[in-house]
Amino acid sequence: MLALTAKALYTPLEKIERPLVLVDEGSVLKITSQVASETPPRCRLRDFGDCTLAPGFVDMHTHGAAGYDLMGDDPDGQNAINTFLARHGVTSYFPTTVTAPMDKTLAALDHLAEAIESAKDASKGQAQPLGIHIEGPFLSHTRRGMHPPEHLQRPTLAAFEKLWQAARGHIRVMTIAPELDGALEVIAEATKRGVFVSMGHSDADLDQARRGVTAGARHATHTFNAMRPLDHREPGIIAEVLTNPRISAEIIVDGIHVHPSVVALIAKAKGVEGTVLVTDATAATGMPDGKYQLGWVEIEVKDGMCLHDGTLAGSVLTLDRAVRNVMNFASWDLQRAVRAAGLNPAKAAGARTKGSLEIGADADLVALDVNGEVKATIAKGVIVQ
Ligand SMILES: [Zn+2]
Repeated sequence: MLALTAKALYTPLEKIERPLVLVDEGSVLKITSQVASETPPRCRLRDFGDCTLAPGFVDMHTHGAAGYDLMGDDPDGQNAINTFLARHGVTSYFPTTVTAPMDKTLAALDHLAEAIESAKDASKGQAQPLGIHIEGPFLSHTRRGMHPPEHLQRPTLAAFEKLWQAARGHIRVMTIAPELDGALEVIAEATKRGVFVSMGHSDADLDQARRGVTAGARHATHTFNAMRPLDHREPGIIAEVLTNPRISAEIIVDGIHVHPSVVALIAKAKGVEGTVLVTDATAATGMPDGKYQLGWVEIEVKDGMCLHDGTLAGSVLTLDRAVRNVMNFASWDLQRAVRAAGLNPAKAAGARTKGSLEIGADADLVALDVNGEVKATIAKGVIVQ
């Protein structure tokens, strides 16, 4: 058995001073404070000193890292990504596809399903892929960003079923533009199957966005990016996202995708319950400037910006940096920031054993210093430095 202690712990809803977390077989057995109980005999104690422990981060929107794209089929890729993410405090994530030729998409979904199934028992000490986020092909031509127009599709139940089968039911998040013909039917069907439906890459006006929510959509993909802009007389989808408490909102807090003051605006509107930090990271994350793949599209990375044809195409953000940035941009404390990077995405996507430190939860933790820097990650009870 392993016992973990530090200066403090965020569950994240509660704060425990001098916590004592007992870990057995990769799960949390007990959480108390050192004042209340002693370390059991024959238990290995690890003291993280002045650090604060929090649930391991959960990235709902990531395309790759460490030189590898998650749609690729390089056998080393998955391992490299899982190791890289764990070093940045991420203990679980939702590999995210981009719009691509249908046969390539189906092949990628098959690989990702395989990765998810094999990681179930074997992901100790690494980040675990939990389910697939499909970003495309049901996106708006007007707001497609880097998604290749020739492969965008009109949403149909038949096309959705094809993707679902290829992914062997592992689709957990779907980005879709609710204004497209057929979208509402696909949103309703996906929701019925337990998919967390996110509105994004969308030119929806206010009514179209509201109809999306009525059909089952509960989330917004990278709020403000690839969306009809907010106008005070033509409010559109962003007004619905910011004002409807049933919708949670992703933000890419790299200081490039959304201006820091608008990050503060979203954080204020959605509050600590409704804000979800994501990276939208690409293969270029953790790598030098240069050319990388994002799905079947080439991107060029320079000075922290990923571009395709002059359009922003993903990021090189890591979730630990997003946590530090949101503290700066929105004047949030660490407790709020870690909640938006862990509990909120886990809850949204229905990952019951993730995002919250409680008895029976997976022993996924991150040890952060006062500046929010990752000092260690614990993934299913295995400590990664
Ligand atoms: Zn993306």
